Amino acid sequence: MKKVIIVGAGLAGSYMAYAMGKKGYEVQVFEKRPDPRKSSYGSGRSINLVVSHRGWTALAYAGIEEEIRKIVVPAYGRQIHDLEGNESYFAYNIDNKAIHSISRGEFNKTLVELAEALPNVTITFDAFCEHVDFNTGTVHMKQGEQLNAYSADLIVGGDGANSSVRNALMKQPRFNYSQDYIDSGYKEVHIPAASDGSPQLNIDALHIWPRREFMLMGLANTDNGFTGTVFAPFGGEYGLDHLKTGADGLRYFEKYFKDAIPLIPDLEEQWENNPTSALVCIRCNPYHWGTNTMLIGDAAHATVPFYGEGMNGSLEDVRVFLELLDEYGDSDMKKVLEIYTEQRVPAGNALVDLSLRNFIEMRDLVADPSFQLRKKIERKVQANHPDKWTPLYTLVKFTNIPYHEAKAEGERHDRIMEEILAMEGVEELWDSEEVEQEVLRLFESVR
Ligand SMILES: Cc1cc2nc3c(=O)[nH]c(=O)nc-3n(C[C@H](O)[C@H](O)[C@H](O)COP(=O)(O)OP(=O)(O)OC[C@H]3O[C@@H](n4cnc5c(N)ncnc54)[C@H](O)[C@@H]3O)c2cc1C
Repeated sequence: MKKVIIVGAGLAGSYMAYAMGKKGYEVQVFEKRPDPRKSSYGSGRSINLVVSHRGWTALAYAGIEEEIRKIVVPAYGRQIHDLEGNESYFAYNIDNKAIHSISRGEFNKTLVELAEALPNVTITFDAFCEHVDFNTGTVHMKQGEQLNAYSADLIVGGDGANSSVRNALMKQPRFNYSQDYIDSGYKEVHIPAASDGSPQLNIDALHIWPRREFMLMGLANTDNGFTGTVFAPFGGEYGLDHLKTGADGLRYFEKYFKDAIPLIPDLEEQWENNPTSALVCIRCNPYHWGTNTMLIGDAAHATVPFYGEGMNGSLEDVRVFLELLDEYGDSDMKKVLEIYTEQRVPAGNALVDLSLRNFIEMRDLVADPSFQLRKKIERKVQANHPDKWTPLYTLVKFTNIPYHEAKAEGERHDRIMEEILAMEGVEELWDSEEVEQEVLRLFESVR
């Protein structure tokens, strides 16, 4: 394998371009959008993402971790805002580890710049992939009025949830695909820094206003502002379909997120002008075709953003593939791609399942006393027996354990904690030796 074509210079595509370029491959990237350095990415709004351990591992693999660490803001826990405006803080970890917020636009630009600085990587913007011919390893690109064909030894679909590469694969026999929109969507509202430049919310936390069926979430930016995102159903009286105007938005906030109103001076204007977006889950199998085509990132497994792992899982796809290349070389691509599919399809499916599960947890269960009781017990057992009890959130956000293995362990914890929470008087006894010993007993016996 000499030449690689990557369709899509998003987060996964531009990261892969850099990492493959560093390995000496000739890499040609095609991106349908204009160059992010010449246009205002994300319409100038500060949309941000959480980078977790898997993302950092991928960045470290490519030798660019330190570069990216310069543009992140850490969050050490969740700050919950209840309906009355009371706030409570829950650390993510017993050992004060953080997840990190990063501007999507800045991250993407940095990756594009790093990749393009390599002499063997080219990125062509305003180039839309229309079609892929797998027999000849050729992509057909629409560039202005022209349709041009380019060939490579490996074609990578890094072109996101509406992937053209995946669409072409869907016409092949025995390629499986499913797409499910959830009933909820989202709208972003920017929470600026205070007039003196200080943050208006605790900068060390990810903020959640959980309201059962819906929630507001706030994630810090490097300028001390926050990106606020309302996740809510489309239907119902307070569904996004019925909250079109700025006045509707203000009425909604007055009823459910009153304490956030003073933080957003132009709330009505933002509410009316910012788009409402849908959320889709995509699964497919395999993630490769023959010896010359593969899918990475959202093209393979787009998911809802409630674990903040879509991009982290996308970077992990690439890192796992590159490590397979390190191990097996590129002379037998059929083998490398088959192992890639074997490892990443279960991981991608579990990522989708875990993300859906965390929607329930974030919007609903964080406001639920029995959830909070469970967290307290888990935290204590984890502190006293870190070799045994690692909560699901930690497995997902702070380790590289494959998502499907983390999910299976999380489900085992559910079965254990169900029994613990059914113990008589557990509300008072949660801190006792008796409860801890029972958790440990069940830890050994429940499969
Ligand atoms: C509201 C929200 C919040 C999120 N928060 C997080 C988070 O906190 N942490 C996290 O890990 N993940 C998060 N995600 C998920 C994350 O955004 C995605 O998983 C990630 O962007 C996937 O990267 P990608 O490169 O595969 O796809 P994308 O980032 O979508 O990039 C695909 C690229 O391909 C280009 N393209 C598309 N079609 C074509 C074509 N036919 N020809 C040429 N180019 C094409 C697109 O223009 C784009 O640049 C969030 C998602 C949403 C919606």
